[in-house]
This record gives sequence, C-alpha cells and structure tokens, in this order.
Amino acid sequence: MAKAKVVTLRPTRPCPICGKPSSQQYHPFCSARCADIDLNRWLSGRYVSPAESVEDEAEEETPPSPDAGDDE
Ligand SMILES: [Zn+2]
Repeated sequence: MAKAKVVTLRPTRPCPICGKPSSQQYHPFCSARCADIDLNRWLSGRYVSPAESVEDEAEEETPPSPDAGDDE
C-alpha cells in the first residue's frame, strides 16, 4: 500500500485576526482570544478593533472602479 497517510504538512491558514499561524483547536484562529475577537466582530455586525491593535489587516479597502469619466 502506498503511503496515503494524511500528513498535516500544508501550512494552515494564518489567523484572520492577528495573522499568526492558526491553531487546530481554535481553527481558523490562533487562540481563543482571536476567536473571541472575531465573535465580537460578528455580534457587533461591523469590524471593530480589538483592544490590541492589529497591525496587519487582511482586509484591504479596494476602491471601486473609477467611474468618473474625467478623461474628457
Ligand atoms: Zn490570532
């Protein structure tokens, strides 16, 4: 039989909150704290900054396509 054993070699997705490698226990977050932060985000219905400042925000505001026809 071939080695069809599933190995967790592939890097897990980083924590969406702080960017750290996520933990299997708190997937997809790295810790209960980040999971809680995300939960608060959910409950608030908007993106709220946690007590700890997040340096790297995964969400980047992409401006909509330039609709202004200032080419004239
Ligand atoms: Zn985290």
